[in-house]
Amino acid sequence: MISVEEARNNILNSLTAVSTETVSLDEASGRHLAEDVTARRTQPPADLSAMDGYAVKSADVATVPVTLKVVGEAPAGGSYDKAVNKGEAVRIFTGGPLPKGTDAIVIQEDTTRDGDQVTITETSNKGRYVRYAGIDFSEGSIGLKAGKTLTPRDIGLLAAMNIPWVTVRRKPRIALLSTGDELVRPGEPVGPNQIISSNSLLLAAMIRAAGGIPIDLGIAQDNEQSLRQMASGAKSADMLVTLGGASVGDHDLVQTVLGKDGLKIDFWRIAMRPGKPLMFGDLDGTPMLGMPGNPVSSMICGFIFLYPAMDALMGRELRIPGTIPAILSHDIRANDQREDYQRARIIGEDNGTPIIELISNQDSSLLSALSSANCLLKRVPFAEFLPKGTQIDVIPLDEGYPLC
Ligand code: AMP
Ligand code: MG
Repeated sequence: MISVEEARNNILNSLTAVSTETVSLDEASGRHLAEDVTARRTQPPADLSAMDGYAVKSADVATVPVTLKVVGEAPAGGSYDKAVNKGEAVRIFTGGPLPKGTDAIVIQEDTTRDGDQVTITETSNKGRYVRYAGIDFSEGSIGLKAGKTLTPRDIGLLAAMNIPWVTVRRKPRIALLSTGDELVRPGEPVGPNQIISSNSLLLAAMIRAAGGIPIDLGIAQDNEQSLRQMASGAKSADMLVTLGGASVGDHDLVQTVLGKDGLKIDFWRIAMRPGKPLMFGDLDGTPMLGMPGNPVSSMICGFIFLYPAMDALMGRELRIPGTIPAILSHDIRANDQREDYQRARIIGEDNGTPIIELISNQDSSLLSALSSANCLLKRVPFAEFLPKGTQIDVIPLDEGYPLC
């Protein structure tokens, strides 16, 4: 059995980023830039006023009060094109360009206007209330780097740079194949010993939350023909995720059947709980992640392996789930050789630090327990016994990224 870290590295090392597409700016938020973006415009394009008032020569207003002659107007988007002489001022508005010969703004509140005369009551220094050309960005400068995840703030920047569209990574298409004779879809007629397939919907929601497109291939029966036929639907996907059938039982056919179809196994079985039978390989050019069927195992494998894999496919830097400090409300026993992701719940707080308890039944089939958990406690292999009251770090599930 290989370690969680080794397994994750193997997956990441074997993936290459998906191809790119061009999208208009109004569809670009949350996408991952595939190329550096260069400004197509200098901003501000000229020296502009930051206030409503008068453009003056600072030397003329060194001593106040002083009365100047108003010779024209410079509104935003317009200009006053003649040179301004000593003793003259130009009425200016926010965003209006500074006329030649002026070097400062006096704000309207510090003036009294009488016909074409304006009396200035406060001094103003050179550059006061002036936004010089290019202080935001200059044409040709790199605005955003490849790999950046575009935020709404970035969209504003790109728009101001006169960029109407951007080249981003395609959303990775992740094919999901459930396996098991016992499974039926939610809402379908269901026999007494059947199980409703929940995994693929859980994983599909996670894939969407992480910026991908899930493709539900359906439920394969536990026989060679069904598995083969349904897995062939993954041909054009960027990754195939199989759910169930990955273990050692007589009905766990994923490895044997797909092996006949050319599946090359990179690893099978990892030192992790839940998720021990995880498998990774390449099926005819499509990376394949074979997850165990129990819903909690699938969710944890999605969190620990599929999310980083999707980051790699999107050509973005890895998002590492954050941790928060918390206090144990009870003792925790020492761990064995498998890295353990235990489901836990915040039940209170001590001076602002959350107090947590482990979900009492850590069985990997229990969806109600999983749904009621809101954090994960990672226990490294051979982690020691921890007494009640110990401060530990937990991974919150319900806030920030990644959601699951
Ligand atoms: P397997 O990995 O195929 O041995 O399945 C392990 C357990 O997970 C079995 O109890 C299955 O019934 C259950 N299981 C497998 N696939 C799903 C699924 N898509 N949704 C819910 N439970 C599943
Ligand atoms: Mg099965």
